[in-house]
Amino acid sequence: MSNRSLNLDDTLYGYLLAHSLREHPEQIALREATRNHPRAGMQISPEQGQFMALLVKLLGARRTIEIGVFTGYSALSVALALPDDGRILACDISDEYTGIGRSYWNRAGVAHKIELRLAPALQTLDEELAAGASGRYDFAFIDADKTGYADYYERCLQLLRPGGLIAIDNVLWSGAVAQPARDDDTRSLQALNQRLHDDERIDLSMLPVGDGLTLARKR
Ligand code: SAM
Ligand code: CA
Repeated sequence: MSNRSLNLDDTLYGYLLAHSLREHPEQIALREATRNHPRAGMQISPEQGQFMALLVKLLGARRTIEIGVFTGYSALSVALALPDDGRILACDISDEYTGIGRSYWNRAGVAHKIELRLAPALQTLDEELAAGASGRYDFAFIDADKTGYADYYERCLQLLRPGGLIAIDNVLWSGAVAQPARDDDTRSLQALNQRLHDDERIDLSMLPVGDGLTLARKR
């Protein structure tokens, strides 16, 4: 027995999924539709989607932000957890990727909760701030270009209410963050991880979920 997070082998991972996963049929269908996409590895895992859905419910979230939609699995997971008048401001630059998700959002009956903005996320977030949305959001998920994370984090922190939560994906970057950086993505993630550790505006937890998921609660 160990109190360290376990390395999951295939058998134990299968057990975890078999004893916890509760996907909507359209979540299963969207994962199937993404499985053979050349960038399928960008999609969050189903257990991470379920965890984020639980966080959204625990927060009682109504207004949320997603930065990095891809084919829409994380947005679908969060949208299913939101109340009927809940909303995701969903930011991506790819019509091609996000176009794959729309019909699944529709069939799951949550398309009306997802406002897709096809533009660089920083532009969309700055527009929201300019429109007076500071402090109006409950939850944000950051999962787009890694060199943009620091800016997304600062904007999201302004957009969240006190007690709101930011979830930041890929903070362990397949382990590369613990080694000397060889590229800009790794350097950006290392700098952000350090910055968050020192940031007194938030409560912090870095979880070995997926590729590393940091939770930052605005104080
Ligand atoms: N959360 C998604 C899921 O669970 O399937 C995965 C998101 S994927 C890792 C990253 C996404 O960020 C891609 O769809 C890409 O088009 C988008 N992206 C890249 N640069 C961006 C930018 N500057 N602004 C907004 N989206 C961006
Ligand atoms: Ca990710």
